[in-house]
Amino acid sequence: MPRIPADEILIAGRWRRGGGLPIHTVDPADGSLITTVHAASPADVDEAAHAAAEAAAAPEWRDLPPHRRARVLYRIGDLLEEHADALSALQTADTGKTLGETRALALSAAGTFRYTVAALETAEDALTPPRGPYVTMSTYEPIGVVGAVNPWNSPIASDAQKVAPALAGGNAVLLKPAEWTPLVSLAFGRLVHRVLTEERLPTALLAVLPGKGRIVGDAIVRHPLVGRIGFTGGTTTGRAIARAAADKLVPASLELGGKSPTIVREDADTEQALAGVMYGIFSSSGQSCIAGSRLFVHASRYDAFVGELVERVRKLRVGPGTSPDTQVAPLVHHAHRDAVAAAVDLARKEGGRVLCGGSAPEGERYAKGAYYLPTVIDSLPNSARACQEEIFGPVLVALPYEDEDELVAQANDSVYGLACGIWTRDARAAWRLGRRIEAGTVWINTYKQFSISTPFGGMKDSGLGIEKGRDLIRAYQRQKSLYWGTDSTPLPWAN
Ligand code: NAD
Repeated sequence: MPRIPADEILIAGRWRRGGGLPIHTVDPADGSLITTVHAASPADVDEAAHAAAEAAAAPEWRDLPPHRRARVLYRIGDLLEEHADALSALQTADTGKTLGETRALALSAAGTFRYTVAALETAEDALTPPRGPYVTMSTYEPIGVVGAVNPWNSPIASDAQKVAPALAGGNAVLLKPAEWTPLVSLAFGRLVHRVLTEERLPTALLAVLPGKGRIVGDAIVRHPLVGRIGFTGGTTTGRAIARAAADKLVPASLELGGKSPTIVREDADTEQALAGVMYGIFSSSGQSCIAGSRLFVHASRYDAFVGELVERVRKLRVGPGTSPDTQVAPLVHHAHRDAVAAAVDLARKEGGRVLCGGSAPEGERYAKGAYYLPTVIDSLPNSARACQEEIFGPVLVALPYEDEDELVAQANDSVYGLACGIWTRDARAAWRLGRRIEAGTVWINTYKQFSISTPFGGMKDSGLGIEKGRDLIRAYQRQKSLYWGTDSTPLPWAN
């Protein structure tokens, strides 16, 4: 793994200290300081944007044939795989997540680059059917400079999902990692920088600009040279970004929050559903946009299913992400843990019954970390805040339902529409429900499985636009139509 001096960030193709407020990155497993990152300032963003615009327009990048650009991306994918262990360790220190999960994220980032290579190699411009004496063609061109603003929960995967298609599309990228997790994005930047250097390409094609709060993200989004924004994060921030994009009239894709229903029908396979429901909410300690945080169980099975679920949730192993035993790791930082605890306290006040968890674990091992026990709550109506608001922690709310219409009404009674899980042995019911639930992704008898070849996006307040899938590069390009006259038919006003 290349050296990661945290006092340097990647601005305008060079590694140097940023001029912004320092970020103290803390290991959430024990509260220890990992390092201090000298983050970017708005002036750094401006410098990076100008250098990126120049890099994007440089003939050696602009005119690089797709198969050569593909080679660059493939090499980045190789390096991500080669350094998966180091990237995983860094991400676990930064986010708290288990090593198993962060390794899978690093490998998925490598897979994203390779898939993008395939999409790039096979992308074609289109000849459109002529309707007159001309040939018409639709082509795709780079946008120029793209802003990529990401959250903290799966940093390297989110980075790859934006940077790979943006570079493939012929652009330069200003990448803004979240304040809590800048380290893995900086390491990713080191790998990309190395490949660009080896290939003698402009190194300003990628800038990595960590920042405190909203300052740097806001400066990127509003910068006049940034012609497209790829954003993943909370819905409130997404709205602010959409407004900024509207002011500039540039496209923005928004991957936002969720409060996803997971449904256990009367005919579900109990073992499969128990494992899936638990994994759906408690993996990543619930810090996942697609977490299945609202559980609907058919009333005929509610007591038995929820009773067994609670027994098993009590046995989940809570511990540091570095321990091979751990199933539920700490939350990303202490203030977030406190926000999760406050949401559970509010659920109690609203009449919720906490069936398990509901506090930080006790004991020396947990004393300094940002831990919270996996929690199951019931006896709340779907209108309660715990059922409507994204908690983004290991908190599941369980609700019984009587019939399908009532289930669909409740499941869809949410501002969000990101994901849904359905556990059933009845294929027709699965299909029917899958069509009726308002969600960008529906999993049937599985949950939280991802494929880069399958488009992903949210409905309602969960987002706008699609990432991944065969058209992933097109989202980072501009379409242009060309007409080429093929005979000498005079135009109407010709003499
Ligand atoms: P956040 O919205 O607070 O921050 C996301 C990023 O935006 C950060 O880099 C932040 O610094 C930046 N930012 C904040 N304010 C900004 C502004 N005004 N202008 C520009 N940039 C700004 O989100 P978070 O707390 O980091 O992440 C958690 C959220 O992300 C959850 O809501 C989760 O559901 C969502 N998420 C969604 C997906 C998805 O694919 N739909 C995936 C992962 C996470």
